[in-house]
Amino acid sequence: MVMLTDLARVLRAAGLKVVEVDGWKTRGYRHRARPNGDVVDVRGIVCHHTATPWSATGNYPSLRIVRDGRSDVPGPLAQLGLGRDGTWYVIAAGFANHAGKVRDDGYGSSHTLGIEAEAAGTGDPRDWPEEQVASYARGVAALQAHYSGAWVKGHKEICAPVGRKIDPSFDMAAFRKRVAGVDLGEREGGASRDDDRDAAPAGWDNRGYSKAWISTQQAKLNRLGYDLVVDGKRGPATIAATKSFQATHRLTQDGIPGPATAKKLDAAVAARAKAKHHRRTTTAPTHVYAGIGTKRGRLLPKGYPFTVVNGSGTKVGKTWWVQTTAGNWVRGAKTTKAKTATKKKG
Ligand SMILES: [Zn+2]
Repeated sequence: MVMLTDLARVLRAAGLKVVEVDGWKTRGYRHRARPNGDVVDVRGIVCHHTATPWSATGNYPSLRIVRDGRSDVPGPLAQLGLGRDGTWYVIAAGFANHAGKVRDDGYGSSHTLGIEAEAAGTGDPRDWPEEQVASYARGVAALQAHYSGAWVKGHKEICAPVGRKIDPSFDMAAFRKRVAGVDLGEREGGASRDDDRDAAPAGWDNRGYSKAWISTQQAKLNRLGYDLVVDGKRGPATIAATKSFQATHRLTQDGIPGPATAKKLDAAVAARAKAKHHRRTTTAPTHVYAGIGTKRGRLLPKGYPFTVVNGSGTKVGKTWWVQTTAGNWVRGAKTTKAKTATKKKG
């Protein structure tokens, strides 16, 4: 049913370091029941450790085995890997043979996401450095939020028969507590708080811009007639409004209100204020049903500076209005009205 192709994005949005392993988006174990190598759904997140000894060097020495499998179990053996330093390795978007025999079908690999964290798990004191555990908890919290409250369990808690697996070697109750305490609203670490560059929790991504910055741009967009919640979150509505604005101002339509867009927004807000003053002395509609891009049919306040006219009219009361490219309002012709009406129906 699903390939989990948003894994890298979700982890990055939580401010985590992510390595995308080549081919991960199409990687999944293909079997008779699931020839496409996908999973049915994500009901839970299963934590593992790799049990690779510390004699293996590198940050994630288990990568090859997790990706390709062992002689007795074909890969991938997990969708995600976690390095010793807390770096996430995105290995597969599809079905991974991580759970094996389980106590309940719902715990199986068709319904769960597996994470193989690099650890010997033998009680070696080098296991579970703080940066790794912090990243483990943060990543799981982000994934849990993304997959609508999926449960979090250790392999040792779901395997059948009981005792077949011992991983992960840390206490799961304490780990879940730590996951529950993760604040996804802010990126951890010194510099981030100082410059107010909060990381985005799952579901929205400010692309490195602070909430304060995004709020400022949202307020400007609202002054231009958009109707956004000023919350500092670059969510779907803000992205759509930004793209719409960028489209009418010949900016790259990436939906990111960066410096160039912010500058144009300032100019547009100033122009609108000026236009508003000017229109007091001219005949103009009190409201505008603008016909720009996705905002077609939207009620905008008087003076909203849209420039694309091309037959899109504006009805105020019984009168149709058309704005010329020079910015003047003129009564629309009947043909304009008909054209617009047809357009709106389609
Ligand atoms: Zn395991």
